[in-house]
Amino acid sequence: MARALLHIDLDAITANWRALDAHSAPGTRTAATIKADAYGLGAAQVGPALMAAGVHDFFVAIAEEGVALRKLLGPEARIHVYSGHMAGDSAAIRGAGLVPMLNCIDQMTRHFEILPGHPFGIQLDTGMNRLGMEPAEWAAVAELVLEQAPVLVMSHLACADEPDHPMNAHQLQVFHALTDGIGVPRSLAATGGVLLGPAYHFDMTRPGIGLYGGRPFEDARPVARLSLPVIQTRELEAGETVGYGNTFAAPAPMRLATLAAGYADGIHRVLSGQPMLYHGATPCPLVGRVSMDLLTVDISALSEPPRALDLICPAQGIDALADMAGTIGYEILTALGPRYAREYGAPGKR
Ligand SMILES: *Cc1c(COP(=O)(O)O)cnc(C)c1O
Repeated sequence: MARALLHIDLDAITANWRALDAHSAPGTRTAATIKADAYGLGAAQVGPALMAAGVHDFFVAIAEEGVALRKLLGPEARIHVYSGHMAGDSAAIRGAGLVPMLNCIDQMTRHFEILPGHPFGIQLDTGMNRLGMEPAEWAAVAELVLEQAPVLVMSHLACADEPDHPMNAHQLQVFHALTDGIGVPRSLAATGGVLLGPAYHFDMTRPGIGLYGGRPFEDARPVARLSLPVIQTRELEAGETVGYGNTFAAPAPMRLATLAAGYADGIHRVLSGQPMLYHGATPCPLVGRVSMDLLTVDISALSEPPRALDLICPAQGIDALADMAGTIGYEILTALGPRYAREYGAPGKR
């Protein structure tokens, strides 16, 4: 079979949630952000696993994700929607019992008119200028909104992955100024904010990437393992070239393996010539260009032709690949394509 295998360790995800939960006081609820299909790893498996581990609060990006999640999690879970209440979302929000985080006065008006009495939260902008009401907007409507009893007031940190960045303290101070004394549960921290310490925790935290084994949660257990089957091996003579554009020429006789995954599967083409593929502890360099469906790898270090090699594994995690690709672990995960067989369980062993 030429289908590559993405192994997802659900125990590691729940262990990462517990570890992040342990960073805050028992009175702080730790939610889970599982937008974008749980960062590409599969909300249908990750959501129920987290719920079984004790998570009650979930966050998704759009209402449609919330509808799908409701079917998986049943009536007990609280499902919040970061994008709020958009035109056309009302039936989904009502039907699936979602909690929209209202981002502006338009959304507020829509929500109060179409779904009066339906639970909602408020998102405030404390400086990121992405989502949420501006301080002046909030000042104008806060009294009216608070009468409607929002279940949560939240904001989001722009620089929480840089603990020394002055933006963190600035946003914290703005959040206090906007919300002190309102008597509504508050949330400011995602993964980075959890690690900034108790001043940032408030009543609820909303980690995402840390659950999935990515920075800035350096102590996270690795979650994803990506194993690519070898389709073919061949011997090269010195000087023979490999792949599109002849970008690699064998400096000496070598053995080459062709693996079944490429940039269509989220292995960014900019990785060409950079990462290793692992056979157990033995690294084998990727050579030549990443093709749409194929990779070429120097397996001269192996005595036997392997059945498969790992691109993502403990020796080379999502952040190592992200550094090589000039991106972040979030993008490595969410780019992992639909062609992989996804397997859930304890750490994959070959
Ligand atoms: C994605 C997101 C999160 C989760 O962030 P991580 O860095 O993955 O922990 C939390 N809050 C908001 C508003 C988000 O968009």
